[in-house]
Amino acid sequence: RSNELGAWDRDHLFHPATEAGAHTRGEIQTRVISGGKGVYITDKSGRTFLDAFAGLFCVNVGYGRQKIAEAIAKQAKELAYYHAFGDYGTEAPITLSKMIIDRAPAGMSRVYFGLSGSDANETNIKLAWYYNNVLGRPGKKKIISRWRGYHGSTVMTGSLTGLELYHKAFDLPRTPILHTEAPYYFRRPDTTMNGEQFAQACVDMLEDLILAEGADTIAAFIGEPIQGAGGIIPPPTGYWSKVQSLLKKYDILLIADEVVSGFGRLGRMFGSDHYDIRPDLITISKGLTSSYAPLSGVIVSDKVWQVLVKGSDELGTIGHGWTCSAHPICAAAAIANLELIDEMDLVSNAHDTGAYLRSALAEALGNHENVGEVRGDGLMAAVEFVEDRDNRIFFDASKKVGEQVAAALLERGVIGRAMPQGDILGLAPPLCLTRHEADIIVESTLKAVDAVFVR
Ligand code: PLP
Repeated sequence: RSNELGAWDRDHLFHPATEAGAHTRGEIQTRVISGGKGVYITDKSGRTFLDAFAGLFCVNVGYGRQKIAEAIAKQAKELAYYHAFGDYGTEAPITLSKMIIDRAPAGMSRVYFGLSGSDANETNIKLAWYYNNVLGRPGKKKIISRWRGYHGSTVMTGSLTGLELYHKAFDLPRTPILHTEAPYYFRRPDTTMNGEQFAQACVDMLEDLILAEGADTIAAFIGEPIQGAGGIIPPPTGYWSKVQSLLKKYDILLIADEVVSGFGRLGRMFGSDHYDIRPDLITISKGLTSSYAPLSGVIVSDKVWQVLVKGSDELGTIGHGWTCSAHPICAAAAIANLELIDEMDLVSNAHDTGAYLRSALAEALGNHENVGEVRGDGLMAAVEFVEDRDNRIFFDASKKVGEQVAAALLERGVIGRAMPQGDILGLAPPLCLTRHEADIIVESTLKAVDAVFVR
C-alpha cells in the first residue's frame, strides 16, 4: 500500500509550491502525514513530530480536536451545502458572521466568505475598486503592497505578494500593483537608525511612492500586521500609526491581511488590535477554522459597507461570489474552532507561552555567532542566521542555511520552516503550546543550529 501511494504521488499529485519533477527525480520523498494530536503529527511510518509551524501557520487550536470534527460531521449529515446568493442562506455562516464581528476590531460590520486567503484578497481588491467607482473616482485603482509581503498566489494576489518566487516565472501583471519597502529593521540599510527613525524612513518612502504615482491613482495599501511568510518581521515602533495617518491624508484604504495574525496568533484576537490599527478591510482565513476546513473572509468596515450600499442603488448586484462562498460545513468548523479558542483560553496562552518561547530562544541562541537576530511577537518567532555577526555579513543565498537548519531540526523531531528569502528559521506552533513543549522546541533548535554551524 505504501509502495502504491509512493508511485501515485510521484506520478500524479501536482504538489503546490514545489519544484516540478523533484518527486520524480527522487529529490523529494513525500512524508505522508496520517494523524495528529495537540501540537504533534504522525507520519505513516509511525514517526511523531512536534509541529512548531502549525501546518502553514494555521492549525491554531492544534490537531485532533473532536469538537470540530463532530461539528463538521453534524453539518454534513444535516445539510452539506446550500448557497448564500441573494435570498438564500444557511444557518452556520450567518451565526459565524455574528461571532466574527463580535470579536473583530471596532468599526467592522459585515463578513464576506471565501475559501482561501488568496481569494479573500482578490475580494479586497475588487471591493476597493468598486468603492472608488461608486465614489466617482475610477482612476483610483492601484494597490500598494510591500516587499516580503505575502498575500496569496492567484494572478492578482501573486502580484501583490512581494516575493519574487511568486511572480517572476509567470510574468504576472505588475500593474496596477506597486511595492514599497518592508519595515525590516534587522536588514535596514542604515544601521545608525533606531526603530522609530527606521519606521519614519519606511513611511517617507511610502509617501514618495504615493506622490510619484499620484494619490488619485491609488486605491489601497495592503499589509500584514506582522509580516509572516516573508520572514516573520514585526513592525518597528510607531510604524503602523505613521502608515495609517499617511493613508488617511491621501484617502487610501487600508487592508490588514490577518490571514496569519487573526484569531490569536499575536496574543490578541486580531493583530490590528494588537498594533492599534484601524483597517477598512481585514482578510481572514487559516486560524478561522484552524484549517480543519477551507474558509476565508473579508471583514468589511461600516465605512466601506455604506459606500457599497450606496453603489448598489446604481450598479445593482455585486457581481462577485463563488459557488461555495459561505459554505455551511466550513462555517460549522469555524464556529466550533472559535468556541474552542475561547474555551481553551488560547489567545492568552499565545501571549504568555509566546513570550516564554521567544525569551527562551533568545537566551539559548541570542549570543550564537551565526545568529543575527531572534525576533517575533506572540507565538511567532524567527531566528535569522548570518555569516559574520559583528560585520553584518549575510550568507550567500545558494547555501540555503535556513533550509539546512530546518532539516537538522526535523531530524530532531521538530518541524520549523525555512522562510523563502533569507536565512531564516520560522517558528509558529499551535496556540495550545505548553511551556514544556516550548522547551523541546528551543532545545532542539539549539542542537540543530550547533549541528549546522559546527564551531
Ligand atoms: N495572506 C497571508 C498573510 C498569508 O500568509 C497567506 C498564506 O500563507 C495568504 C494570504 C494566502 O492564503 P491561501 O494560501 O489560503 O490562499
